[in-house]
Amino acid sequence: MKRITIAKGDGIGPEIMDATLKVLKAANAPLEYDEVQIGEQVYLTGNTTGIPTEAWDTIRKNKILLKAPITTPQGKGYKSLNVTLRKTLGLFANVRPCNSFAPYVETKHPDMDVVVIRENEEDLYAGIEHRQTNEVVQCLKLITRPGCEKIVRYAFEYAKLNNRKKVSCFVKDNIMKLTDGLFHTVFKEIAAEYPEIESDSWIIDIGTAKLANEPERFDVVVTTNLYGDVISDITAEISGSVGLAGSSNVGEHVSMFEAIHGSAPDIAGKKIANPSGLLRGAIMMLNHMGMQEIAMNINNAWLCAIEEGIHTADIYEEGVSKQLVNTMEFADAVIARLGKMPQNLKPVVYESKGAIKLHNYIRENNTVKTLNGVDVFLDWSSGSPDDLGEYLSKANGTLELQMITNRGVKVYPNGFDETFCTDHWRCRFEKTTDTVSNSDIIKLLSDIHDLGLDAIKTENLYEFDGVRGYSLGQGQ
Ligand code: NAD
Repeated sequence: MKRITIAKGDGIGPEIMDATLKVLKAANAPLEYDEVQIGEQVYLTGNTTGIPTEAWDTIRKNKILLKAPITTPQGKGYKSLNVTLRKTLGLFANVRPCNSFAPYVETKHPDMDVVVIRENEEDLYAGIEHRQTNEVVQCLKLITRPGCEKIVRYAFEYAKLNNRKKVSCFVKDNIMKLTDGLFHTVFKEIAAEYPEIESDSWIIDIGTAKLANEPERFDVVVTTNLYGDVISDITAEISGSVGLAGSSNVGEHVSMFEAIHGSAPDIAGKKIANPSGLLRGAIMMLNHMGMQEIAMNINNAWLCAIEEGIHTADIYEEGVSKQLVNTMEFADAVIARLGKMPQNLKPVVYESKGAIKLHNYIRENNTVKTLNGVDVFLDWSSGSPDDLGEYLSKANGTLELQMITNRGVKVYPNGFDETFCTDHWRCRFEKTTDTVSNSDIIKLLSDIHDLGLDAIKTENLYEFDGVRGYSLGQGQ
């Protein structure tokens, strides 16, 4: 017997969890459960994280969490529990398989079978945001080499373990050359280690358009957090129903399994919700835990129920469906088919190959880092870019003003009158001598302060092994 943690969540959560546990019991899954309270009731006690200390302890002890959806109360101050769980527990890989079940569940893409593997911990979801001026707020997009290496390697290992043929990378590195560029570079490096698996790369906009229109062209897709969040919902929806998809959030220590849909408050308590999303999350969990036989048995019984037209209201369709069932009746229909193989849908075969193991990240410490200058950001609204440029030139010393940009566009020197400017200016100072240090930057900031200007932040400009580590201004 293996002890796992369960959380029944909010809305339809308890109904679909009870149905899922009933199927697991009938399939003789050797599991025991510790239930934790997380979500709405906890938020409403004033705990803005939605999770009490005891729940953390149980989740960390058991290492596997099967979680029903939770409701994040509207209003300020409540943190998304999902994001908290993923980041705190290091659940770096979010895996969402999305395949169609045509003709039993309506879809325009009867042959699609895509797995979206989304980086789960960094990117804009680091949640580091600042209001810097009256007009401008910013969110830091953090992409790290260890983060990219972990998720990309996970995607290739997942493909290998699951006999998938191709891994596609989705990025926007034509614009974000450093952040998305790093993800893409790491993808190419790691793809070369798996010559038996095909790989390709897509710019996210056209890639998503193709994915939505011709999902059959894709197999495994790996991408950063925000893009993955968006495209995994699109992919689940076009496969037939968001209500059918499960997902895993895999970490090196703890892993969490869930449905991808939310708590569906509009149908909560009616006992009509489709438990398939959570059940399929549970099947992923069984596979992860090395219980492939039981996972296969439940999945094939589930496919039998779907192809026999035993459908909950969300996928019920006159002429295709045969029997409208509620949540527990659907679970009973799956249970009645344990041990059977689907006749028309392709049966699943899970080979027992064990969980995906990743190499430890090896940090390289021998990079030569050189300081070239600094970008000083100013809150300023007292004139034209030329006024600011001339004024700032008075602060030139070992560091000299090279350009000013506004929202990334060069406006000084030789800016265009047509460029709209906000009150947020990036002023780039570069070295005039061979070497500069942080004390030159401190001196510059002091001079800028003495000129009566409001410096709101700085970004140092570095080269790494002679390669520029900062973007040029548009028009520079
Ligand atoms: P939702 O997924 O809960 O519901 C969207 C629509 O799909 C609703 O009409 C709902 O009735 C239907 N639906 C969803 N799951 C279904 C199922 N299993 N069977 C039948 N119909 C189903 O999305 P929402 O309404 O945007 O969000 C509701 C709440 O869920 C919000 O508080 C949100 O924060 C939360 N949420 C939680 C999670 C999670 O815990 N992982 C994920 C998404 C949203």
